Amino acid sequence: MTDSRAQAVDALIAISGEIARRGWLRATSGNLSVRDVDAGTVYITRSGADKQRLTADDILTLSPEGLVLGGTGKPSFETAIHQAIYAQTAAGAVFHIHTVYNNLVSRHAVDDGIRFQDHEMLKALGHWDEGAAITLPVVPNHADITRLADAVGEVVNPAVPAVLLRRHGVYAFGDSAESALRHLEAFEFLFEWLCLDRLTDAIGTASAVLPA
Ligand SMILES: [Zn+2]
Repeated sequence: MTDSRAQAVDALIAISGEIARRGWLRATSGNLSVRDVDAGTVYITRSGADKQRLTADDILTLSPEGLVLGGTGKPSFETAIHQAIYAQTAAGAVFHIHTVYNNLVSRHAVDDGIRFQDHEMLKALGHWDEGAAITLPVVPNHADITRLADAVGEVVNPAVPAVLLRRHGVYAFGDSAESALRHLEAFEFLFEWLCLDRLTDAIGTASAVLPA
């Protein structure tokens, strides 16, 4: 095994276990990749792998052209989306998860984005200014994977390191596996906050109209 593959395998097994323990990779959903930016080689979880128990064989080595050079099985069905993000950014890792919160939030996207403003958590995404605001891009969940990957590639923005797919899940990325994980955690925090904020508003409105 090359040093680059050994490093990628160790990082993906550790991070996958960590993310799976949070319930963010249920029913073998989601997929994770890291890239050797200098060589252009991508290491990605295979289709259908149980992310809580990944082995080295579950991680495929892909050439810059997408040819499978190592590991066993088929690359994730959504490999083209990882490649679209790598093509448009300098990312070193792309992590994709399906959660109840990111699916719920995608329902509330107006047009093609969701705006978050004035959250302390935006600092974890690199936005430190007073009153900082970001718009997270949102794309429709096309069934055709090439069309879906093209849609992600068109909206991906390195300053807002994620793309949300409607009623599907989120893709977060970063320079390294550590930064991609930090971005994923920050976005999931914002998604949970948005859902619970709407719920508490709804409870407040409902209790206001109940007889005393
Ligand atoms: Zn997915």
